[in-house]
Amino acid sequence: MDARVKDKLSHYVGGRRVEGQSGRYGDVYNPAIGEVTRQVPLASTEEVQAIIENAASAFPDWAQTPSARRSQVLYRFRELLVKRLDELAEILSSEHGKTLDDAKGSITRGLEVVEFACGISQLLKGEYSEGVSAGVDSWSMRQPLGVCAGITPFNFPAMVPMWMFPIAIACGNSFVLKPSERDPSCGLRLAELMTEAGLPDGVLNVVNGDKEAVDALLTDRRIQSVSFVGSTAVGEYIYQTGCAHGKRVQALCGAKNHMVVMPDADMDQVVDSVMGAAYGSAGERCMAVSVVVVVGDETADEMMSRLKPRISALKVGAYNQEGVEMGPVVTPDAKDRIRGYIDRGVEEGAELVVDGRDVEVKGYENGCFVGATVFDKVEPGMSIYEDEIFGPVLSVVRAGSYDEAVSLVNDHEYGNGTAIFTRDGDVARDFTHRIQIGMVGVNVPIPVPLAFHSFGGWKRSLFGDQYIHGPEGVRFYTRMKTVTARWPSGIRSGAVYNFKRGGEH
Ligand code: NAD
Repeated sequence: MDARVKDKLSHYVGGRRVEGQSGRYGDVYNPAIGEVTRQVPLASTEEVQAIIENAASAFPDWAQTPSARRSQVLYRFRELLVKRLDELAEILSSEHGKTLDDAKGSITRGLEVVEFACGISQLLKGEYSEGVSAGVDSWSMRQPLGVCAGITPFNFPAMVPMWMFPIAIACGNSFVLKPSERDPSCGLRLAELMTEAGLPDGVLNVVNGDKEAVDALLTDRRIQSVSFVGSTAVGEYIYQTGCAHGKRVQALCGAKNHMVVMPDADMDQVVDSVMGAAYGSAGERCMAVSVVVVVGDETADEMMSRLKPRISALKVGAYNQEGVEMGPVVTPDAKDRIRGYIDRGVEEGAELVVDGRDVEVKGYENGCFVGATVFDKVEPGMSIYEDEIFGPVLSVVRAGSYDEAVSLVNDHEYGNGTAIFTRDGDVARDFTHRIQIGMVGVNVPIPVPLAFHSFGGWKRSLFGDQYIHGPEGVRFYTRMKTVTARWPSGIRSGAVYNFKRGGEH
């Protein structure tokens, strides 16, 4: 191991940290300094199988635990999240790079899912029909699935796991989390806090690893469901492989979110919104705005003249430096990949208005920094328009009309988020109806649904048909059972050989 590497991480199994046995490790960077600071064990298939066994043994007792007692664990977990917010943000930012305030905001968004899951007794209430036939009653209930798995991306190492396990566990399932190997420490700490909150050992486990660990989860018959959040290529593979092995799968994937700016939009609001939505978290958000479609050259010229100085002045630095608005990207590889896209944008003929390739941060010369970048006059077909760059690179496309803008959004392969900026209610209403996208904002640049709604995209941004968290989260982690019951004192109909209309006996 590199002499500078301080920490060797572990897995979390049966309520405690467990050392990796495979002998394989991955590097975890602190992206602000560009150095490897931790090593994460990459689990073998056998290690994953042992972890699944642990989760499977914990399931029956947990499923039998009354829902009100399950939610008490989540109430205590919520209190611990509040108490440990600073510590969690420091862990998160030191591996991901986002600013501490942004890290805290994202943890709070996860905490809101925990708060939603605390109401599980209400959420699991079934339906009851008295007297569906003479002396016959019928009711439905939702029951847990068994062992559920979650495979999560690097960009929200606390929030995205909390989109999954609090609801799955509240529903009575046990859970195996496979966090991103690029920033795994948050997942481990969250599992420890669940134990501290009173969760029985084995109900929440964390396995660290790469493709080998994921494949072991996808093919194991004891895993009932797989929740995935990550890139489209991997998500499609996970959906197909998981389904082929009989699992329920939801795979939330990549994005290229377009923000449409109409000529009547409030330009101050537009500029503020673009700054936060394109460059917050260095553009490493699946709901980041990466394309702005401006209707009309005059509007585009005005927006660019206001945006350019703001983008050039954006303060880039380490996550814990005072006044920093944008941190580094996650690894040296990500930095090279993003800079490569800027090179290609220039080669393909887009107009590079602000170039972030050579940004320098004093005292952090080896950090994984890419400065805020904007291209004007981008066109469909260019790689900076078609691909998800997942960095602080914004493309501005000029459209001749509203209809052209709508077609651009609808024709793109991704369908996660979009927004329209306008003062015209008719246009906004038409947009929300016609647009082929899962989450839509009207003068709201990042329309992320809150915890009590469900989150998900359309087209190649989601494989599977259930969104995550909110009511669809509860449906995803449970299955329905419907009971029809008659008691001996009821009316007897003798042997019946033919189906009859409902209500007849
Ligand atoms: P990624 O697809 O590289 O990794 C996600 C997970 O899949 C990780 O746990 C990783 O270990 C695993 N994985 C990677 N390659 C694999 C393979 N070949 N086989 C099996 N498993 C594999 O994604 P990332 O780079 O960590 O995250 C960024 C991506 O996530 C972006 O595309 C972003 O849009 C997407 N994302 C989507 C949402 C959403 O809700 N739609 C939210 C956050 C992030």
